Order: sequence, then C-alpha cells, then structure tokens
Amino acid sequence: MIEVKNVTKKYGKVVAVDNISFTIQDGEIIGLLGPNGAGKSTTMNMITGYIEPTEGTIIIDNYDISKRPKKAKKEIGYMPEGVPLYTDMTVKEFITYMAEIKKIDKKERKEKVEKIIEETGLKEVEKKITKNLSRGYKQRVSLAGALVGEPKILILDEPTVGLDPKQITEIRKLIKDLGKKHTIILSSHILSEVSQICQKVIIINKGKIVAIDTPENLENKVSNKNSLYVTVEDTENKIEKVTKKIKEITKIELIKENEDKTKEYLIESKLDTDLRKILFQEFAKENITIFEMKKADTTLEDAFMKLIEGGN
Ligand code: ADP
Ligand code: MG
Repeated sequence: MIEVKNVTKKYGKVVAVDNISFTIQDGEIIGLLGPNGAGKSTTMNMITGYIEPTEGTIIIDNYDISKRPKKAKKEIGYMPEGVPLYTDMTVKEFITYMAEIKKIDKKERKEKVEKIIEETGLKEVEKKITKNLSRGYKQRVSLAGALVGEPKILILDEPTVGLDPKQITEIRKLIKDLGKKHTIILSSHILSEVSQICQKVIIINKGKIVAIDTPENLENKVSNKNSLYVTVEDTENKIEKVTKKIKEITKIELIKENEDKTKEYLIESKLDTDLRKILFQEFAKENITIFEMKKADTTLEDAFMKLIEGGN
C-alpha cells in the first residue's frame, strides 16, 4: 500500500505540489492525470524517494520513505520521463547493468535479466545498441530497467510520450499485463489513455488534486445535466419563444443551420428530467417538426476539462 499524506513540494516560491493526500492499494493501476506542469513528475519523484517532500509523509508498505529509504525503495521500479540513460550499451548490457546497480545476486542475475527481456518483448533486439533503437523499443528498455529487482510497485512517468500509435497500443498492452503482477502508478496528460489502462484516476492541476475516482464515476459526477441535440424545421421561427416557456430547459443553443433550412440545437436540462417527451409534445403544438433528436454523451474529456476549470 502507498500512503501519501499531506504532501507539499516547494521549489523556492514555486509550489509544485500543494498538500496532496491519497492511498493506493496493492494491485491497483492508478493514473495520475493532469496538464503539463500540474505536478505529476514531482509527485512521482517523491514517491520513488528521489526527492524529499517539503512537508508531509509518504509511506510505502509501512515504511516511511524518508526514514527507511532503502526498505521503501526496494519495493519500487521507476521509469522516468523521456528516453533511457546509458544508451551506448546494448539492451542486454543495460538491463544487466541495472541488475548490478540493484544488487541482484550474481548467481541469479543472468536468469532474471533473461526473464525481463522476455517479459518486455526485447528478445529480438537484445544485442542492439539502445540508442539505435526505435522510440518504442527505447521505451521498452526503460520499462525493463524499472522491472529489475522485481519491485512490487511500478512508477511510470508518461510512458507513451513520443510514441507512434502502434507503439502506444503495444506499450499500453504491456502495462496492462504488468498490472496483473504489480501495483502501477502512471502519469499522463492524455485522458483516453488513463481511462483505458487505469482503474482509478487522480486528476491533478496546479499541484492540487481536483478529483480521485474511477473513470466511469468521473464522467457521471460532472455530467449534472442532460444534453440533447435536436434538429428541427421551424419555419415560423418559434423555437426561442416555445422553449422559454418550458421550465425544465436550462439552456438552448443553436449549433448549426443546415442547407435544407433545418436547424440543430443543443438543449439542456437537469440530470433528473428527460426532455424528450416534453419536446415532442410542445413542439408539435407549435408546428415545429423534429427531424432528429439524440442524447449528447458527456465524455471523460468533458469531465476532465470541467474539473480542471473548476479547480481554477
Ligand atoms: P508535470 O510532470 O505534471 O508536467 P512537474 O511535476 O514536472 O509537472 O512540475 C510541476 C511544477 O513544478 C512546474 O511548475 C515546474 O515548473 C515546477 N518544477 C518542477 N521541477 C522543478 C525544479 N527542479 N525546480 C524548480 N521548479 C520545478
Ligand atoms: Mg512530468
């Protein structure tokens, strides 16, 4: 279990992380989601013990990371942002070197390195120099480095940045597979990514947590309204007047005028009202013909933007 309690990190006057608290259970895949500069990397660096919080405590499996750094760090594999270091080594040399640094027993080293190479799909490039590999493979090498020492927890900082779509799909799959055996914290500024991989999302903005929830709940939480897209033929231009009289409507907005003279509106109501029946009845009375009516989905993207804006 990871417990982050009232953690703040200041760089001089800059408050990079501002009094955040959260708990991560064993086996969870957690996404740290936020725009650039939100404080994701700083948070991750503190959990790895790489930098010290200005205030607050971080406890990894009952070990306070600042009091028992060795014990706590042993549980953690960290993949920093960007490309791997030591790129003049071959893939295998690099992973072996990481195993030496992490003091993996010499007798077991070879076997463990082999296992990680298999696990991360690096077998076919194990003899290649890392710097000559594609960005996708470099990311795998970086991930392999994090896996050395069989840490319980994996901390992956923006694991898909700079990858092409195919590589992104592959890395996501790999992370999901690793999630079966590890607790994972990954950061991203891409919403769809986090919702695809993670069971829980921590949204962070300007150093503060603005929400912690499942991707599904986040969507529901912020969609406190029903939105409908309604296309009508309204030859007498009555819609404004008619909708004003319907008290359930909280907002109406003209989206577009089509060539056939029909118009598309976005019409909103409170979450607990279904406007569809009311609209059918009232519009019919006034000679407004409904051509099409569809519910507008609120996406996680909407949720994210709303939470971020709300935090400002
Ligand atoms: P993210 O990873 O979400 O993009 P960071 O954690 O890297 O965000 O940065 C959070 C804030 O802290 C930013 O405003 C950044 O400029 C600042 N920051 C990060 N590292 C340092 C540092 N070493 N010195 C000064 N300011 C820093
Ligand atoms: Mg970062």
